[in-house]
Amino acid sequence: MQTPQVVVVGSANADLVLDIDHRPAPGETVIGSDVVTTPGGKGANQAVAAGKVGGAVAFVGCVGDDDHGALLRDSLSSAGVDLTDLRTVDAPTGTATIMVTPDGENSIIVSPGANRHVTPAMLEETRSSWGAAPVVVLQLEIPVESVAVVATGARGRVVVNAAPAARLGSAVLAAADPLVVNESEAAFLLEDAGAAAGPADDTGATARALLRLGPRSVVLTLGAAGAVVAETRRADADRPSDDVRVGDEVPPADDAAEVVRVPALRVEAVDTTGAGDSFVGALAVELAAGATLERAVRLATRVAAVAVTRRGAQTSFPTLEELERAAT
Ligand code: ATP
Repeated sequence: MQTPQVVVVGSANADLVLDIDHRPAPGETVIGSDVVTTPGGKGANQAVAAGKVGGAVAFVGCVGDDDHGALLRDSLSSAGVDLTDLRTVDAPTGTATIMVTPDGENSIIVSPGANRHVTPAMLEETRSSWGAAPVVVLQLEIPVESVAVVATGARGRVVVNAAPAARLGSAVLAAADPLVVNESEAAFLLEDAGAAAGPADDTGATARALLRLGPRSVVLTLGAAGAVVAETRRADADRPSDDVRVGDEVPPADDAAEVVRVPALRVEAVDTTGAGDSFVGALAVELAAGATLERAVRLATRVAAVAVTRRGAQTSFPTLEELERAAT
C-alpha cells in the first residue's frame, strides 16, 4: 500500500435510516418503515470520498466488534483506505438514527459509541500515522480535546471541517488551513465568537469574518450555490483564475484577504446526504497533490455535484472514472 498522503482522523457510524409519518410526540409510539443501514460518520465518509477519487488515504478511528463495525471496515477498504489505525474497541460502533418525514426533513439521534474511544491517548499512540502526513483531515464527531491534539500536533496541512457545529479553541482555529464550514456552522462559530456575520446575502463578508477568527484559510460551502474561498493574501500565491471570480460578489480587499467564489455545478440533486463530506475528502486529496486551495475547491465541487445526483452517502461518492465520465 502507498504511503498515505491524506490521513482522516474522525468518526465512523452506521446510519440507520427509516421513514416515519410524523415525529413522535413525548410519550407517543409511531411505526416506521424498515430500517436501511448504510456506512456513514463524517470521518469515514470523508476517507471513502478521498479514497474513491484515487487518494492514498488512511483512516484513524474506532469501531466496535459488531456488524456495524464490519460494514464500515468493508466500505473503507473497498475505497482503498489504509485501516492500520482503525481500532476495534470494547464499545458498540457509533450509530446515527435518521428519521425522515414525508416533507424530506431529517431528525437525527447520534450515539457516539466507539467514537468516544478516539481519545487524546489513542491519538498519541497513533501519532506515527498522522503526525507527518502531508494533509490531515478533522471533523467534530470525536471528542473535542482529541481534535485539538491532532490540529496542534500535525506537521502537515490541517483541514478542519467544523461539523457538526461546536465550539473550537483558538489553537484549532489557528491550525485550520482551510476551515471548512457550511452556512449554519459559520453562523454558529461567528456567534460563539461574538463576531458579526455581515449581511445574510453577502457570503464573501461571512467568509472574511471567519478568516478573522484565526484560520489560515476558509472554505464556506453554500449547497447548490457553490462555495466561497477566503485566504490571507500570500506573497507567493497565484492569482485566482478569472473564470471563477464573480466580480460583484467579491468584497473590497480591505484586510489583505483574497475572496473567490466557486459556483456549484448545475445538476438534478436527488439526495444531498454526505455532499459536504464528499467535498472535504476530495479537497484534501487535491491539496495533498499540491493544488492551490481554489483549484482543490473546484475538484471538490465536481465530486460533490456527482454525489448529490445519487442516493446515500458513501455509496453516492464517485470514483475517478465516474468523475471523468460525468465531466464529458
Ligand atoms: P450535507 O450536510 O448535505 O452533507 P453540507 O451542509 O455540509 O452538506 P453544502 O454546503 O450543502 O454542505 O454542500 C457542500 C457542497 O456540495 C457545495 O459547496 C456544493 O459544491 C455541493 N452541493 C451541495 N448541494 C448541491 C446541489 N444541489 N447541486 C450541486 N452541488 C451541490
